[in-house]
Amino acid sequence: MIQLYIPLNFLGVIYREIKQSLADMERLFSLLEQNREVADAKDAKPLQTHGARVTFSNVEFSYDPKRQILFDVDFTVPAGTTTAVVGHSGSGKSTLSRLLFRFYDVNSGSITIDGQDLRDVTQESLRHAIGIVPQDTVLFNDSIEYNIAYGKPGATKDEIVAAARAASIHDFIESLPDGYATTVGERGLKLSGGEKQRVAIARTLLKNPAILIFDEATSALDSKAEQAIQAELKEIAKSRTTLVIAHRLSTVADAQQILVLDHGRIVERGTHQQLLAADGLYAQMWERQQARKDEELKSPVEEAG
Ligand code: ADP
Ligand code: MG
Repeated sequence: MIQLYIPLNFLGVIYREIKQSLADMERLFSLLEQNREVADAKDAKPLQTHGARVTFSNVEFSYDPKRQILFDVDFTVPAGTTTAVVGHSGSGKSTLSRLLFRFYDVNSGSITIDGQDLRDVTQESLRHAIGIVPQDTVLFNDSIEYNIAYGKPGATKDEIVAAARAASIHDFIESLPDGYATTVGERGLKLSGGEKQRVAIARTLLKNPAILIFDEATSALDSKAEQAIQAELKEIAKSRTTLVIAHRLSTVADAQQILVLDHGRIVERGTHQQLLAADGLYAQMWERQQARKDEELKSPVEEAG
């Protein structure tokens, strides 16, 4: 009895940890199907996307009944456009992406994609329609080819190479001793943060989802690597419905819509210019980040002098 109980409990712990980080949720669901907190409706239908307009309507949510996390969250991401979500740590940004992926159901209100309530569609079709580039990509201890192909079971070698090229990692892979067969991950070749991100991008390109979520996808990188990856993310976000969650505001300035989340409420919304003009929380955050950037530029000179 006890021996059986411990491993199951242990899986539960891992499940929660991974779920928390959003890191590897797609893989997780295939591994721990039975651990789902939400179930398909009896008459659930496959999600049909036509451009993938995403709408949150008056969404209220709490993980724990004693503490509400989201309050009356209401916004639409028009089909094929990018909406950025910014706000202090703990304000509920990642929770939005967890709800869109239907890790949890909302307490009240609704989330729809092209008018279909997430609770009425199959989870398989929903997760097929969404690609996530997480903050910290977890690689399998397997070939780099496998790690990319994971985005599309049954992908051909040509498709894998095309995705790697588009993610600017093909040349790097070719330079490895065993090329695409090189083992990566904890027990293989360790890739840098930027290289891992590119693998995640290639994987996502191969999956070719209607909806993209970047959850602080470049926050672990130095600013040069970040700029390079940002350009690629922007390219793959073109003509897809995209939700970008970001710390660094410079990475979201050209989003069609920016939502500012504060303690689970949208307190401001608009374009970068509109939000600067509004001179509220966003403008404050922007100023603070600019000041920090100036400091970083100044400090080496000061040390030298
Ligand atoms: P952000 O991404 O903006 O930093 P999150 O959406 O991750 O914020 O978290 C919002 C709030 O919800 C935080 O206060 C966090 O502690 C809480 N929270 C997140 N996940 C859970 C969970 N599984 N159970 C209970 N509280 C959680
Ligand atoms: Mg987060």
